[in-house]
Amino acid sequence: MSRAPSVLNSPTLLHATWVGRLEKVDCIVIGAGVVGLAIARALTLAGRETLILERAEAFGTETSSRNSEVIHAGIYYPRDSLMARACVAGRQALYAYARDRGVPCRRLGKLIVAANESEAAMLAGIRARAQDNGVEDIVELSASEARALEPELACVGALLSPSTGIIDSHAYMLALLGDAESGGATLVCRAPVEAARVVADGFHVDVGGADPMRIACATLINAAGLYAPAVARTIAGLSEEHIPRAYFARGHYFTLSGRAPFSRLIYPVPVPGGLGTHLTLDLGGQAKFGPDVEWIDDVSYGVDPARSVGFYAAIRRYWPALPEGALQPGYSGVRPKIAPPGAPGRDFIIQGPRVHGVSGLVNLFGIESPGLTASLALADHVAAILE
Ligand SMILES: Cc1cc2nc3c(=O)[nH]c(=O)nc-3n(C[C@H](O)[C@H](O)[C@H](O)COP(=O)(O)OP(=O)(O)OC[C@H]3O[C@@H](n4cnc5c(N)ncnc54)[C@H](O)[C@@H]3O)c2cc1C
Repeated sequence: MSRAPSVLNSPTLLHATWVGRLEKVDCIVIGAGVVGLAIARALTLAGRETLILERAEAFGTETSSRNSEVIHAGIYYPRDSLMARACVAGRQALYAYARDRGVPCRRLGKLIVAANESEAAMLAGIRARAQDNGVEDIVELSASEARALEPELACVGALLSPSTGIIDSHAYMLALLGDAESGGATLVCRAPVEAARVVADGFHVDVGGADPMRIACATLINAAGLYAPAVARTIAGLSEEHIPRAYFARGHYFTLSGRAPFSRLIYPVPVPGGLGTHLTLDLGGQAKFGPDVEWIDDVSYGVDPARSVGFYAAIRRYWPALPEGALQPGYSGVRPKIAPPGAPGRDFIIQGPRVHGVSGLVNLFGIESPGLTASLALADHVAAILE
């Protein structure tokens, strides 16, 4: 592994003004969300010199810390899709990684509940799809069997997914970063990538911020999440035809005052654009509900307390005893969609040179749920593309 005396070894990158000398690294990962960090870890495990450029002040402050923190089993995604494969493989890898690295997680299990007969008719299809994806442990429950597990639940039938769980996403990202740094990677925050250019032996990457500079690299990974299409558009030499349009679907969360009378995650049957307003628990036992779906033009993270009206209605379909006044505005996250409102959802897109023809470049688009669960598998996928 090459260890050039480069920006990788320089604590002064942020303070260095680019004065004509071109700094060089082997790989640059744009974006220090869970996916960028997992990729940086995989690259360093493969012996690659890696620099992670993050425009925010810290890692994991966007979608990777604004989600449900659920380890998904792999139930809903179309057969043979990258989402399905990466979710199932990623879930198995994530439980093993969390155990080995001491990342807090719990395999709580989840119930997918049907509120009426027409939803009950959908459960068999959901279970069949799960089986197609290799999720073999789904159990069909009658209403009374479901209520024996969760007495406050209202439903006419349910599916139990024992392998669904929850994870401390921040601790997970910290472990990934620790592994990457142990392998020699460097994370630089407040380092927005503003443009890149394809050159004969790789890329020239322009980094903005307080002290702009240009860095050369052989391999460039665009893991910029919500902004991945925008970043891709700044890469001179990459054809526009390969870059999807970005759409943003915000999901809000409300937290529950007091303890929830549930010990598993509770999901309705999925709704267009998302998985429905579900109940999830964090590792401290705090219940939160969400996310709903609101299409927005620009990324922002407010939570309008008035949205609680829709939440009470959605939650009482499966928990009629939810007390009035028990919901408090929590936080929101934005799904990096690559299909417009009303259109069928699209699979994760991970484009390497075989697709776009640019050697050394990998773009990741539309890494919405289950990207947290799938992160280790997506990193392996990127590493395989680069081999
Ligand atoms: C509401 C919601 C709920 C979800 N729930 C779950 C769940 O329960 N389970 C699950 O598995 N998945 C879930 N997901 C999906 C999961 O959170 C995402 O797939 C995952 O976090 C995406 O990680 P990322 O690293 O691709 O993106 P991000 O976390 O957004 O990271 C991208 C990073 O790139 C940086 N960046 C952007 N532009 C630049 C630039 N020009 N230069 C440098 N840096 C840049 C950003 O600042 C950011 O830190 C959910 C998503 C949402 C929105």
